[in-house]
Amino acid sequence: MGKTYAITGIASGIGRATADLLKKDGHTIIGIDKRDADIIADLSTSKGRQFAIKQTLKMADNKLDGAVLAAGLGPLPGIEKEIAEVNFNGVVELAESWQPAFKAAGNAHVVAFSSNSATIIPAIPKKAIDAFFSGHAERVPVFFKSLGYRGAAMVYGASKLAVARWVRCTAVKPEWAKAGIRLNALAPGGIMTPLIQAQLDSPNGDDLRSLPTPLSGFGDPADIAAFVQFLLSSNTDFMTGSVLFIDGGSDAYFRACDYPRSTSIFGAIDWFIKWKKWQKEVSR
Ligand code: NAD
Repeated sequence: MGKTYAITGIASGIGRATADLLKKDGHTIIGIDKRDADIIADLSTSKGRQFAIKQTLKMADNKLDGAVLAAGLGPLPGIEKEIAEVNFNGVVELAESWQPAFKAAGNAHVVAFSSNSATIIPAIPKKAIDAFFSGHAERVPVFFKSLGYRGAAMVYGASKLAVARWVRCTAVKPEWAKAGIRLNALAPGGIMTPLIQAQLDSPNGDDLRSLPTPLSGFGDPADIAAFVQFLLSSNTDFMTGSVLFIDGGSDAYFRACDYPRSTSIFGAIDWFIKWKKWQKEVSR
């Protein structure tokens, strides 16, 4: 039976390829973007995000079978604040506001877009992730500027790391997992879309061309759309809180022996507390 999904970033690249595929499957799509969409909204502003949230709920009659949060800005200099706002708040604010609509639909599946930049950009400070989590995305570009870092790439990496962390923290919360909402993230590498083309055409294009990619080349947006289609399907009913890398092997190249990793001896205390908390909750 046809389902109803909200897709952000529907006007281009991965969002558009995903909408095309899901429409072919007979689903109803509510598209959100700053252009060429059912709901025209600027997700870099709080006002735009609130408008997108409300209009979507209105169009979906407060019931969403899922969402694909694909709107995003690439690491181009001069738009650092917008990168932080769209890439993090444009995912988190929308998904959290739609949680009751996901719950109302039952068995909802939500896909958020992270990136392999979350792990292949080194030394992203905890302070940047904390700023996103405390509702201060606008402080992240200021913070990196004060450290003298190459701003856009760091803000981009931090925004995508924060999205991946938010997915893992949120997916396991009872309000999500017990409500039957599956929440996962995709972390693509270079996928040939206008976003990546703009980076290739920028003065830093050679950094991207020479990025270690064991399978070489760039991915196709249609392949990412197929992953989204799978993540929205009942085949993934036992999957939540995962971050999937589709990046030609770049993440594995840089972190081959670093991930997965067992909890450290210091983390074991937190592990024990969590286990006890779980036992207490299930015995209620
Ligand atoms: P794209 O540029 O082709 O599409 C992004 C869409 O987001 C566009 O339609 C754009 O209008 C929309 N958008 C941007 N700012 C917006 C705003 N303020 N308000 C509303 N909509 C806005 O990019 P893409 O490659 O399809 O990227 C999709 C997602 O995948 C992004 O989150 C991106 O960060 C992520 N990603 C892409 C790649 C890649 O190589 N293409 C790699 C890793 C992650």
